Amino acid sequence: MAGPFKIAGTVEAWCGRCKLMLHHTIETLEGNVPGRVHCNTCKSQHAYKPYLPGESPRDVKRRERDGERGPRTAQPGKAKASHYDELMRGRDSSLAQPYSPKARFAAGDVVRHPTFGVGVATALKDATKIEILFPDGPRVLIHGR
Ligand SMILES: [Zn+2]
Repeated sequence: MAGPFKIAGTVEAWCGRCKLMLHHTIETLEGNVPGRVHCNTCKSQHAYKPYLPGESPRDVKRRERDGERGPRTAQPGKAKASHYDELMRGRDSSLAQPYSPKARFAAGDVVRHPTFGVGVATALKDATKIEILFPDGPRVLIHGR
């Protein structure tokens, strides 16, 4: 843990403009943590952000805690589900093409399957097989017959 912090002190923080972890000068303190800081590199002033974007202090704490306990237990189901959410983000499931073995799909296509639900084609296996990621995991289906 970094600190103690003091005004005009230097702290390593995320600079959203430089997109790097860089040294910042502390301008205000909120309790024991820096409030506003400015980037020593681009001089932009912003709120103190000690972590990379997408990484919250809670994530870091959880990782540190798990690190003390030993290697993190893999949760393949969860990983797949979040990967699915990531793939579906920005895609319109109402535009999904109905799955048929006769249809031809390309990686990135949104496909609606009567049993598996809406999935995203992730990889062409060969001319007649395509891997599609559904909410419950990836499946290889026939296409282009
Ligand atoms: Zn900067």
